[in-house]
Amino acid sequence: MLDIKVTKTETPKAKPAKDDPLLFGTIFTDHMFIMDYAEGKGWYDPRIVPYGDITLPPAATIFHYGQGVFEGLKAYNAVDGGVNLFRPDMNAKRSNRSSDRLCIPEIPEEDFVQAIEELVELDKDWIPNEPDHSLYIRPFIIGTDPFLGLRTSAYYKFIIILSPVGPYYPEGLDPVGIWIEDDYVRAVRGGIGEAKTGGNYAASILSQVKAHDEGYSQVLWLDGVYRKYIEEVGAMNIFFKIDGKVVTPMLNGSILPGITRDSVIQICKEWGYDVIEKRIDIAEIEEAWKNGTLEEVWGTGTAAVISPVGKLRMGDEIMQVQDGGIGELSQRLYDEVTGIQLGKVKDTRGWIVKID
Ligand SMILES: *Cc1c(COP(=O)(O)O)cnc(C)c1O
Repeated sequence: MLDIKVTKTETPKAKPAKDDPLLFGTIFTDHMFIMDYAEGKGWYDPRIVPYGDITLPPAATIFHYGQGVFEGLKAYNAVDGGVNLFRPDMNAKRSNRSSDRLCIPEIPEEDFVQAIEELVELDKDWIPNEPDHSLYIRPFIIGTDPFLGLRTSAYYKFIIILSPVGPYYPEGLDPVGIWIEDDYVRAVRGGIGEAKTGGNYAASILSQVKAHDEGYSQVLWLDGVYRKYIEEVGAMNIFFKIDGKVVTPMLNGSILPGITRDSVIQICKEWGYDVIEKRIDIAEIEEAWKNGTLEEVWGTGTAAVISPVGKLRMGDEIMQVQDGGIGELSQRLYDEVTGIQLGKVKDTRGWIVKID
């Protein structure tokens, strides 16, 4: 149990106005959580302080070698009262797995969750009351050793910041177009693909820009060796419904193990679907599309929860799915997962952690 020292701001900021579109990740709340680490001492000085700039030595590890990991989850104003977190223990576990890969010291899971709970509790008035709004929570850990030599950092900071966000799809679910990337790759097995770390995003920016310029909102990555097995999309895992079955790439070491992915797999199984996690050749998807059995495609991730895919572009070919519309299962999954998160649908799986 952390003994968190709280210093409240003396100059609270104005909360966003009711009709503020709250573009993702642009506004931050009044406070943040910080905890330090020093080799030989361990994690120490957990504190909540006014949100603001931090000072770091220019030689800090994070700036030069990218030794850092992050997480993303949301807090919701529940319709049945209180504030809901969705499976925060999974974020704590995944953060530690990411840290293990990057030689960052672990944080006890209960401390990780406690820090989130206390910070959200303090800033809960920042959770917008409008329907489908939430508070995005961004925990991250960075190496701060002021040393340019390449070694694991002896100092770290664990920081949590909060950002109120509107619904990802203000007008209701809106299918996205996806660019299948056959030039660049995001990750390879043995690399850092399954860790939630900035390096994977650094590798993906160029493709993302290219896809945007072509009018596509996301990139679908193929594997780094054969360049034909499906990995994932931007910051989402990907699912296909083919001939009544739910198919998704297996976790192979280069794919991020999404918490929404895990939740969707469990729900689909409970609903009686065959869920197949396997290596998927992009040719299989093309084949299913050609013979009319590619029924639905959707992405899963904390930001959008379920993101229906209306078209996939591969080379010169554009594969339209559901005539560019929303599939029935995609919609049902969206309603179920967001329903649980907002307290509209009964949480039968113990996924919700209530604050106060
Ligand atoms: C965070 C992330 C996801 C989605 O994970 P969730 O836990 O469902 O939010 C998928 N892919 C990448 C690369 C990610 O960083």
